[in-house]
Amino acid sequence: MKVAFVTYGCSVNQADSGLMQQQLKKSGHTIVLHEKDADVVVVNTCVVKSPTERKIVKKLETLRNKQVVVAGCMAQSQPEFVREHFPEYAILGVEGVDAISDIIDGNVKENTQLKRLNKAGMGVVHKDSCISIVEVNEGCLSNCSYCMTKKARGNLYSYPIRDIVRNVKNAHGEVWLTSQDMGCYGFDSNTNLANLLNQINALGKRVWVRVGMMSPQHAARIQKPLITSFASDKVFKFLHIPVQSGSNAVLAHMRRGYEINTFERVVNAFKKAYPKLTLATDIIAGYPTETDRDFEKTRELLTRVRPSVTNISMYWERPKTSAAMLKQLPNYIRKERTRELTKICAEITEEEHKKWIGWQGRVYIDEVGKHDSLVGRNFAYKPIVLKQGVLGSFVNARVTDAKAHHLVGEIV
Ligand code: SF4
Repeated sequence: MKVAFVTYGCSVNQADSGLMQQQLKKSGHTIVLHEKDADVVVVNTCVVKSPTERKIVKKLETLRNKQVVVAGCMAQSQPEFVREHFPEYAILGVEGVDAISDIIDGNVKENTQLKRLNKAGMGVVHKDSCISIVEVNEGCLSNCSYCMTKKARGNLYSYPIRDIVRNVKNAHGEVWLTSQDMGCYGFDSNTNLANLLNQINALGKRVWVRVGMMSPQHAARIQKPLITSFASDKVFKFLHIPVQSGSNAVLAHMRRGYEINTFERVVNAFKKAYPKLTLATDIIAGYPTETDRDFEKTRELLTRVRPSVTNISMYWERPKTSAAMLKQLPNYIRKERTRELTKICAEITEEEHKKWIGWQGRVYIDEVGKHDSLVGRNFAYKPIVLKQGVLGSFVNARVTDAKAHHLVGEIV
């Protein structure tokens, strides 16, 4: 059969779609790009934000004349919703990626079992010709009050190091190590992220690894060996550490499991070791208990730590979460706070980017940009827009200008 994929959400979902496509090809199916050419459409869903969920439901509505498989986090966490609104569609949970052929062949209508599937054992996923995605664990050790992903992905299950390392060995030049929380990798199997990185660093392969997001309390637990493992020139100096709020009261309410000083301690230690590190963080604006003073603390924190990437999300109450039971802040306050933080962070990013003008060094060209340009990444995972070059190659480049979202460079 001809199968098309529509994938929403994070790199974990992208990797899951890649694994399903590999399985389908092995069983003789063909992957097509467009839904109109497909006999079956797999919609790999995300539940992090309400607007994305609304978009997904709209998409599902438009596919009534097709055979459809609803996969991913919505299928796993709200199968009853899918059954009620789309009774004719098949449902495949997050750990059923190896069972996609059975679903498509019509042998099974629903599979949402959390059976602890070793996805790293299924091989590496190539996002495109330059970037590969390697999943390292499913689930996490936290129970954040606002999070629906936890309902879908469950508790931590770390994949064996040997499978992950083999996947990196078979990957393209740039590798995204990914999971819901990289910081707790291995805590269920007597190892940790630093050990994993050390084994990757020992590979005789030229590769650049981007480490995915890690919760501050886990990063703090392995801070010293983790910083050492980042020293390898195989690891991008890119730290994605979501703080979510600058207020300890809000963090406690969110059940995040750390306080601001832990976050700042980790960030400062990384910055001391790698002064040109790219710091990325996530913020939720307008959490139900967030007072004006709490919000001010978030503003102060951002101005203090100056992340050059800040993913700001307006708080959305998600079904089945404890935060959704609280009295919610009015929408206009959530929107105002989101807008204000977006403005502050754009200014910080641009100022931080300006510091790179004049820098010269190795860049891996990993993306086609707008207007016939190419985009490369340097050791700090900075996106540098270039006019020339070859996709998938390393070049020597100089940064000539800085914009809010990228740097501009030329090959030297
Ligand atoms: S760490 Fe918290 S926000 Fe992240 S997946 Fe786990 S429960 Fe959700």
